[in-house]
Amino acid sequence: MTFRRIGVLTSGGDSPGMNAAVRAVVRAGLSHGIEVYGILEGYKGLVENNLQLFSKPSDVSNIIERSGTAIYTDRCPEFETYEGIASAIETCRKNNIDGVVAIGGDGTFRGATDLAAHGIPTVGIPGTIDNDITATDYTIGLDTAMNTVLTFTDSLRATCESHARCSVVEVMGRHAGHIALRTAVASGAVAVAVAEFDFDEDAVIKSIIEKRNGGKRSFLVIVSEGIPGYAEKLAKTIEEKTGIVTRFCCPAHVQRGGVPTLTDRLVASEMGEYAVRLLLEGKSDIVICKNNDRLCTVDIALALKADRRLKGKMADDEFDALPEKEKEYITVRCKEVMDKMRAMYDLVYAIK
Ligand code: ADP
Repeated sequence: MTFRRIGVLTSGGDSPGMNAAVRAVVRAGLSHGIEVYGILEGYKGLVENNLQLFSKPSDVSNIIERSGTAIYTDRCPEFETYEGIASAIETCRKNNIDGVVAIGGDGTFRGATDLAAHGIPTVGIPGTIDNDITATDYTIGLDTAMNTVLTFTDSLRATCESHARCSVVEVMGRHAGHIALRTAVASGAVAVAVAEFDFDEDAVIKSIIEKRNGGKRSFLVIVSEGIPGYAEKLAKTIEEKTGIVTRFCCPAHVQRGGVPTLTDRLVASEMGEYAVRLLLEGKSDIVICKNNDRLCTVDIALALKADRRLKGKMADDEFDALPEKEKEYITVRCKEVMDKMRAMYDLVYAIK
């Protein structure tokens, strides 16, 4: 098919690097002679026909280095209704939008699948600091968020060392422990707690006491927000049981707003350009992944099934009823993801 215009949207939680992806989509589109609409505030912009036309490269100048998303994001429950999707399709038709690049997380990809089912080709780009898209090793924003956490933990370490204190830091990631595990290794934490694995609180406290008795002054513990409320509770327990002054700290949404790192700008640029090529090749209803350092694609429906299985939202009978090829993909992929997380978890305790 001949493309007249394509649209690009960012939806769900923002992540650093989304702007680099938008810029790449716009510039790659323009280089193929296609104008690109920025769809403002995610699916809401489609439902409400709120668009911004990018017709020349300079329309996306000076955003690659900016955090957040220049075309804004929102959550749009209306898009999940019959009327909402009808209105979105109408927006595409009347503005000659022949394909959409949707940047976001799993919710965003569900929306992209709905658009594809209604005849609008879609390609998804994983943009979330949480890295919780099972099909891909990497999601745009993870590296920046982790570096933001490190700036925070390095500062905490300095003051903890001066005062001989412990800090328990709650980091983002939604239900997934990717940020927690990697920042725990890189910040030199004595312990990490994530929802995916059992946490031996007594052993951690024992280890802190032993280290303190050996002369260690400062302690960092990283806890994933995937265990709601636990970080604060753990800080109290550590103080009670070790006598070390222990503070609960939470960088919260600061983690979403750091200046995008080289890695995030690079992956976002690669994925944005690739998304346009895929659309022009007639591909649809797929998400771009980066695995073993190479870009590849996975059908959105399969990627969402892998997600649900990993997150314990797909019961065994539903899984058993899937085609053999899908079962095999999901089993292998879930194991790869969990093995990598386990290795990181073990690394924290091996070098604590
Ligand atoms: P994320 O993409 O970060 O996971 P959300 O889960 O909040 O973020 O989803 C973002 C948006 O995607 C929602 O506000 C909605 O517009 C759309 N969306 C989410 N789930 C669905 C669904 N099941 N069907 C259609 N659209 C959806």
